[in-house]
Amino acid sequence: MPDKRPRRTFAVISHPDAGKSTLTEALALHARVITEAGAVHGKGDRRATVSDWMAMEKARGISITSAALQFVYRDHVVNLVDTPGHSDFSEDTYRVLSAVDSAVMLVDAGKGLEPQTLKLFKVCALRGIPVITVINKWDRPGLSPLALMDEIEQQIKLRPTPLTWPVGEAGDFRGVLDRRTGEFVKYTRTAGGATRAPERRMSASEVEDADAEAWSAAMDEHELLGLDEADHDQERFLGGETTPVMFASALQNFGVAQLLDLLLDLAPAPSATAGVDGSVREVDDDFSAFVFKVQSGMNSSHRDRMAYARVVSGTFERGMVVTHASTGRPFATKYAQSLFGRETSAVEQASPGDIIGFVNAQALRVGDTVFDGDPIDYPPVPSFAPEHFMTATARDIGRYKQFRRGIEQLDQEGVVQVLRSDLRGDQSPVLAAVGPLQFEVVEERMTHEFNSPIRLTRLDYQVARRTDEDGALQLRGARGCEVLQRTDGTYLALFIDKWRANNAARENPDVLLEELPAGG
Ligand code: GDP
Repeated sequence: MPDKRPRRTFAVISHPDAGKSTLTEALALHARVITEAGAVHGKGDRRATVSDWMAMEKARGISITSAALQFVYRDHVVNLVDTPGHSDFSEDTYRVLSAVDSAVMLVDAGKGLEPQTLKLFKVCALRGIPVITVINKWDRPGLSPLALMDEIEQQIKLRPTPLTWPVGEAGDFRGVLDRRTGEFVKYTRTAGGATRAPERRMSASEVEDADAEAWSAAMDEHELLGLDEADHDQERFLGGETTPVMFASALQNFGVAQLLDLLLDLAPAPSATAGVDGSVREVDDDFSAFVFKVQSGMNSSHRDRMAYARVVSGTFERGMVVTHASTGRPFATKYAQSLFGRETSAVEQASPGDIIGFVNAQALRVGDTVFDGDPIDYPPVPSFAPEHFMTATARDIGRYKQFRRGIEQLDQEGVVQVLRSDLRGDQSPVLAAVGPLQFEVVEERMTHEFNSPIRLTRLDYQVARRTDEDGALQLRGARGCEVLQRTDGTYLALFIDKWRANNAARENPDVLLEELPAGG
């Protein structure tokens, strides 16, 4: 029997330290976790997860892996797709966003919108992903709620439509006004880590004297917001014009159940998806899924290679033989997993919106489609504009074979983009990344996983523009510019800075020089 419970698949986007791990744990505690795919970062003495697979990661205390946490709430299955918190792994994060139907933007009440939040938000806008905003850490002093609303409107051009409004200022938090029901959700301070939500709902007439003043101030602002078209409108939210806002304290568990309710009530369910040829797959059609992440080297004793796919349509049954769209070859799924790392267990079945992992799926690459029944091929996951470039050469030329294999593998996984030109030759390809930390991952894995230590040399370029074969010819010899070809065939013109890129465009009006989607 296919599992017909409704799905919600979302990611939390935030700047590091806004409280994503805290919120993730709180959400999982409120709901019933059914599977875990190494989602929560292993910080401090929190449950160690597969995310500590690499020594470098341990040393830095950051999470590089991304997978999904699945839980049940109000008879819905919720898939929280993890995004790495560190800004330097942003390209990975961007890919993860291709696998979700909505995003929760977590904002630190004391800091407001931060650079990483803004970048991630842009990707959501680009992909048409509706965003719910959670103002976190309301238990401690922060910015005024109206100032935060202004910031959202000014900086990301989304109209905030608060669903709750704080009663009492940040730091003197009494609770929130539920703007949809008119109730007061009173907050009671609990010891950190308590799993029960410290919330009590009451009608306006039940508000106690001690909270009366703060309550009436909140009511005033609530009315002002109503006059200012700041009330929720489902169509405008799904159309990417507005963002519902709520106030929370993840650490104190306040607002966590409200957020889950909101996700179930407002966030979109998985829906029909179009393939590259325009044909549409309804969620109830035959099985299909696309790979949004490939990862290997998670287990040093045997080299797993996991390909994570989001189910787009149909029911996935373990063992089914599907077709790999890019090669047309059959692909057996007997090792499909919903878990990895130390506690692996096989996934028996998955529905649209769920994330599955294929073990040792050598053939699968990021962006690939697998399907059953009628053919379908989903559009590739977009790659973002790299801003950091290095040449890589094998330290030991005798290990060139290992070097080539390693670079190819890292390219396939999308750890870095690999660029080549006749001029540079195959011995020293150019590696391009959105964030510089990506190169450390490459160095580490080339040494320990592929047994070919490398030498990386920084190149001065900062800007990449898309061009074509003709452009490659015309720009040959231009100063401060070099054209290289990415493995997927795309020609990239690299420039030292954007002024030189703009100048080249002015001087060569016939040459294609297109901006790539902004990344890091
Ligand atoms: P991440 O980097 O976004 O995953 O952030 P963490 O969840 O690790 O949180 C960063 C810091 O903020 C930690 O010290 C948390 O205890 C703290 N924190 C998270 N949520 C809250 C909150 O609601 N209130 C307060 N006061 N602190 C919080």
